[in-house]
Amino acid sequence: MSETIRNYINGEWIDSISGSTFESNNPADHRDIVGIIPDSNSGDVDKAVASARSAFRSWSLTPAPKRGELLYRVAEILSKRKQDLAELCCREMGKVMAESLGDVQEAIDMSYFMAGEGRRLQGETVPSELPGKDAKSVRVPVGVFAQITPWNFPTAIPIWKLAPAIVCGNTVVFKPAEQTPVCATRLVEIFEEAGLPAGVLNLIHGMGKTAGEPLVRHPEVDGVSFTGSNAVGEHLAVICAGQHKEFVMETGGKNPIIVMNDANLDLAVEGALWGAFGTTGQRCTAASRVIVHDDIYDAFLESFTKKAKQLTIGNGLNLANQVGPIISKEQYDKVLDYIEIGKNEGATLHLEGGAYTEADCRHGTFIAPTIFTDVNPKMRIAQEEIFGPVVSIIRCSDLEMAIEIANGIEFGLSSAIYSQDVNTTAIAERELDAGLVYINASTIGAEIQLPFGGTKHTGAGPREAGARGGALDFYTKWKIIYRDFSGKLQKAQIDD
Ligand code: NAP
Repeated sequence: MSETIRNYINGEWIDSISGSTFESNNPADHRDIVGIIPDSNSGDVDKAVASARSAFRSWSLTPAPKRGELLYRVAEILSKRKQDLAELCCREMGKVMAESLGDVQEAIDMSYFMAGEGRRLQGETVPSELPGKDAKSVRVPVGVFAQITPWNFPTAIPIWKLAPAIVCGNTVVFKPAEQTPVCATRLVEIFEEAGLPAGVLNLIHGMGKTAGEPLVRHPEVDGVSFTGSNAVGEHLAVICAGQHKEFVMETGGKNPIIVMNDANLDLAVEGALWGAFGTTGQRCTAASRVIVHDDIYDAFLESFTKKAKQLTIGNGLNLANQVGPIISKEQYDKVLDYIEIGKNEGATLHLEGGAYTEADCRHGTFIAPTIFTDVNPKMRIAQEEIFGPVVSIIRCSDLEMAIEIANGIEFGLSSAIYSQDVNTTAIAERELDAGLVYINASTIGAEIQLPFGGTKHTGAGPREAGARGGALDFYTKWKIIYRDFSGKLQKAQIDD
């Protein structure tokens, strides 16, 4: 059964001005239409931004602990609806139920965490160099934020952005990915139910070009938070720089797992399977390169391949399935193209994987776990983000070589090493050029209480998640206040 979805502007659910719509489909079965979605344009964006602007002053003056209490209520409702939200996530985005539940749990964690920040949001009070003078810093809200999200974490990523923006006293226009608009709508309904005042959060559905870009360009938008592809992020960065907007982008990854010759092999195999094929490889932190020491290469490959073949593929609503569909036909074609590219580059297709059309899977877009060996680290399949269940196994002869391969890419999001030697892991911890380093764990598994993001071309701007050093530094700006109560003119740096 499909649902008719609307935009949410100034506390009301309304159709787009044009009245045109598009469909959101279940990637496990494209015959299943999840929602009929408004295809918004710049006129809708204007209304949403005006609503966010008019709500800003009153929301920014609402005491931060009260703003935090609202998020606490959001977290409570999310917790109660966890199962329903996860089933919708599974149906609309495709990730298997265990992972869909995890997606919602991450949103719950972030909502509770940011609720607490309503009672912190600290600045600094420091001594002044002059008598009878105070010096302090306070965090103030930035204004109206545009928040643009991808489809691969339809619940967690929006809340990563919405919760800190709102607790910090900003107002928001949220444009979710065209593939997961129903999940986004459920979230906004929860904020409404939790008592969020009209205009603080507005939702605009539609395409990146015709709804997202007018939103980013809008002169009344003060800041933009974007998660998605490098191509789009880099395009938006230029627009925002020209308009002096706050901007953060979290973009692609090509994450390595190093398996040293002293690794716990079973653990490393489990970690590589989870990293490479979890979420069908559609995570920015997916492990798409496994760099394996010569001494244990054969043993690793045998076990890894055997277990990859055993993974069950199919609709994630069936709890027996471990690998769900690829989000869209476009992404499906892109992943299959990369398999051809790898073959043409001379890599060996060790586990064929590829298009998977068994039984009911023919109605969706499924690709089976695919393993390349004899991969040169400079090949495109070892350099470019594929965003599917395709992994390159690369040989190394020592730690130095492993780290050189791991770092020899344009991205720097996540990385992992399996070794039982404390010195080896300490060197890796120091040398791996990535925002996240996992020791004896896979490239997946970031927790919301620490900042998240990467180096090099993985992003720009402050990190998301976490608090200080993370999201709060993006969603507030510093105001520095000096109060002189000496009753006379005092000159800093000049008076003795
Ligand atoms: P995408 O194509 O860049 O889309 C991301 C969002 O941007 C969507 O909402 C999209 O709208 C919108 N958009 C597209 N063109 C736009 C434009 N010109 N102006 C404004 N908005 C525009 O990325 P995706 O395919 O959804 O997501 C996959 C990518 O996200 C991968 O590269 C992955 O690594 C990255 N990602 C990164 C992180 C991280 O934290 N580093 C986390 C998750 C995903 P429509 O889709 O509706 O067109």
